[in-house]
Order: sequence, then C-alpha cells, then structure tokens
Amino acid sequence: MSPSAVATDDHGASGTATLRNGHSVEHGSLLSWTAFYNVIDGKLETTRETRCGINPATEQNNPSVPISTKEDVDRAMEAAKKAFKPWAAVPYAERQKALLAFADGLEAEKEAFSKFLTQEQGKPIQFARRELDIAVSWIRASAALELPEERTEDGDKEIVVRYTPLGVAVGIVPWNFPILLATGKIAASVVTGNPMIIKPSPFTPVGGLKLVELAQNYFPPGVVQALSGDDNLGIWLTEHPIPAKISFTGSTFTGKKVMASAAKTLKRVTLELGGKDPAIICDDVDIDDVASKIATFAFLNSGQICLAIKRILVHEKIIDEFRDALVKHTKLFKVGEGNEEGVFLGPVQNSMQFERVKGFFADIEKEGMNVAVGGKNPGGKGYFITPTIIDRPAEDSRLVIEEPFGPIVPLLSFANDEEAIYKANNTHYGLGASVWSKNVARANGVARQIEAGTVWVNCHFEMDPSIPFGGHKQSGIGNEQGVAGLKSYCNSQTLYLRKSNL
Ligand code: NAD
Repeated sequence: MSPSAVATDDHGASGTATLRNGHSVEHGSLLSWTAFYNVIDGKLETTRETRCGINPATEQNNPSVPISTKEDVDRAMEAAKKAFKPWAAVPYAERQKALLAFADGLEAEKEAFSKFLTQEQGKPIQFARRELDIAVSWIRASAALELPEERTEDGDKEIVVRYTPLGVAVGIVPWNFPILLATGKIAASVVTGNPMIIKPSPFTPVGGLKLVELAQNYFPPGVVQALSGDDNLGIWLTEHPIPAKISFTGSTFTGKKVMASAAKTLKRVTLELGGKDPAIICDDVDIDDVASKIATFAFLNSGQICLAIKRILVHEKIIDEFRDALVKHTKLFKVGEGNEEGVFLGPVQNSMQFERVKGFFADIEKEGMNVAVGGKNPGGKGYFITPTIIDRPAEDSRLVIEEPFGPIVPLLSFANDEEAIYKANNTHYGLGASVWSKNVARANGVARQIEAGTVWVNCHFEMDPSIPFGGHKQSGIGNEQGVAGLKSYCNSQTLYLRKSNL
C-alpha cells in the first residue's frame, strides 16, 4: 500500500483531513478519549484483564488500559512481520509523507494529549504542551532527514553502501516524557522502513496508546502497533524471536536486563539510559543570571529528566554567593497540581519514585547534611517534593553518586579546572554535562575533556533532532536522532557492482 493513500491531504493545523478509510473528518476529532486500547494489526483491542495508572497529584485512578497477554504479543509480532516487507518496499519519500501527515494529526490533537499528559504524568500543563510541540517537531525533523546510498567509482567497479531496514522494532518508553520519546522511536523506525511496536510505561500508558491509535490513520495495519501491560510485557517483547531491534529508553538497571535478553537472538539495541549530569560553574560567571538557569535545569520536570543537572559544581571562590543566588531562584518555584496557575514543579510521577526520592531526604538527617534550600516535604495527598539543594555533602554520599531522578541536587566545589574535570568524570554515567564561563575558550577547552555524549557551553538541555544524541559509559549504547539515529534502524550493506559485462 502506498502511504500517499494513507496520508492526510492537509498539512495545516485546522480544516479537514482525508483518512486511510476515505472518510473526511475535522482536525481535532480523530480520537475519542474515553477508552484506551492495544493496537494490533490496525485494530483497537481490549484485554480480559485491565489495570490503571494513578494521577500523581491526586492519587486517583487514571483510565483503565489493557494488560497484554503473551498471545497478544505473538499476534502483534506476526502482524509486524507481515507488514515489514510491503512497508520496506514503499518509497522513502512516501514514508516521509506519511510521517508528515502523522505530525499534522498529532498537532491537531495537541490540547487533548496535553491534558492527559498532565493528568497521568503530573507535569504542569505548559510543559505538557511544550512536550507535544517538541514531539511534533521531532517527527517533522526525522521526516526531513535523508539516508542516500553512498557511491564510489573505481574503474569498472561501482561500490555502493546502502542502508536497508532491519525488520520489526520494539520501542520501550519510560514515564518522564511518554509522548516525546515514543514519537522519536516511531518516526526513526517507520521512515527507515521498519514496523514499530510501542510499549508505554505502565505508569503512563494512556498517551502512548492514543498516539499509536492516531497513527492508524496514516500507516498501514501492523506498521505502528502498541501493547500495554504489566511487568511481564517488557520481558516477553525483548525475548521474542521476531524483533530485529529494541530501542529502549529508561534506567541503566533495566537497560542491562534488556541487553541481556536481546543478546539471545543478537537483536540490535539502542539504549538511552540514566545520567548524573554535572554543571561546572567557573569563577567568572554572572552569578545571578547563571544561578537562575542552573536552578531551572535542575528542577524542570521535577528533576525527572535524564539530562537534568544532577550535580552543581561551583568554583570555591564564588560558591557561597552562588549558593545564595540558587536558593533565591529555587524559592520562586511553585510546587503543585499541574493545572494550577504558575506551577513550575508538578508531583513526582509515581509512588515508587516518590519513595525512592524520599530516601534521599532521609539521608539528610542520617548523614548530617547541610540543607541550602528545601529539605522538608509537604505531606498530604499527591507525590509532591520540595525542590532541595544540599550544600557540599560528602563526595561519596548516595546523593553525589546515584541518580535520584527527583528534585534534590548536591552543590559541590572545585579549586581549579583540573579538579572540576576530574569530579565531573568521576561517575559511571556519561550522558550530558555543561560548562559555564564568560571565557569561552576556557569553557570550550574544559568541555572537550568531559566524558559525556552531549556537552554544552553556557547552556544545558539544548536539543536538535537532526543531531545525534546518546550516552557514554553506562548512560547508553548507540544514538537516537539525526542520521546516526536512522542508521541505528538499518543494516549497512556494501555492494561491489560492475559496470561492464564479462
Ligand atoms: P525503567 O527502566 O524503570 O523503565 C523503562 C521502561 O522499561 C518501562 O516501559 C518499563 O515498563 C520497561 N521495563 C521494565 N522492566 C523491563 C524488562 N525487564 N525488560 C524490558 N522492559 C522493561 O525507567 P523509568 O523509571 O521509566 O525511567 C527513568 C529512567 O530513564 C531514568 O534513569 C532516566 O535517566 C532514564 N531516561 C533516559 C533517557 C535518555 O535518553 N538517556 C531519557 C529519559 C529517561
């Protein structure tokens, strides 16, 4: 089937769209938000047993979602396998068009997706909307990338390097950016000709299931599928003999299990894992301006970002003044339910994570730590945590070494650039880092010595979907985004062709 027949004919955010089934509908009305389904072979399916996530602000149940069985997994795998060859045969440009139509469809549904994102993930509504905007722009950016054959002429020989799709791919998604991270996986997989089965996190299944339901309007059956479930589902998917590739985003702990499981059939893996990003603050910065940015990048999404600043390293000459500025800016952040006016930090996403983050608060008293700001949590309903900075805890404390994935951060000092580099690299993580200085040559020089997949100078968390992203050390394997991200869904094949007959 040609995706030109499945694409909508209108790339605007309003108006009508023509669907695969030939019907025309108003933009914004493709989905009903009252029931949530698995998507297998183009059909919406329920399961005998269901479960529900919890709204982390109210602790009330979110809508119920399927618990997939092993038999559901087998059927989705067979449907993906059947869809693979025809989808891979669709011209690249047509697959790009289908993706662009999907991006338009998602943009038209932005408000509904954002509302449910706040309800199930907890993030403030303005950040939920932002996640949707970025998701749409990532799909469009993936659709704009090309993966041409590379040709070398050598006398009678023509050497061609080309990139052929791997086969069925599985995308395993965490709960911190459930829409954005799912769209990134779908886009790179399907544009390169691979069917994708999405497994949303059991904590945030609603948005991921609707996203894949929406995709049915733009892609043939079996090309984009979704299964929600319990703790068995990830294991069944990664152990299954059919997939050629697992794209996993989540913790380093689970990433190791995924890799071990994938090894049984040598599935390709992309692992986007945890981080412990340092921000190195040199002694020449504009203290108030930089402190305001550092506080923002530490506490955005309640600290639940792989690339959040998780260690603040400050030159000893300015550390006291910098701490006071950080405290001032952190006190401005309002904590609350995501629809309340002016909220910057929503709740931590789930009870397990809430208990884990509170464990770091318990260390404060146990280890006699100095609280610069925060330190006490509100109590009552909802998984709310007060943004907290600990002033110079022991360098071997859990807070300095582990990833809390919540709004509590250590402030640490260094005496010179060598020590800053040593401390920044003294971790088994290597996801992101930033260096802040008015002296750009100095900052650029330090940046080049940091062991991390992404290092910024005078900013943090800036992302470009056309540029590869990935972790060093135990923060991951492989890349997402950019041409490198597309290649991660492909075999590289080298053809030594001849120009003349024998
Ligand atoms: P997690 O590892 O607990 O879960 C991630 C996903 O894996 C979920 O869908 C979960 O159901 C699934 N899963 C659990 N056990 C599995 C198994 N045995 N086999 C297959 N799948 C299994 O992570 P989380 O708590 O949802 O997310 C937080 C972590 O993700 C943090 O460490 C964060 O740094 C990391 N993260 C990394 C990136 C990145 O791009 N590097 C982005 C976002 C989050």
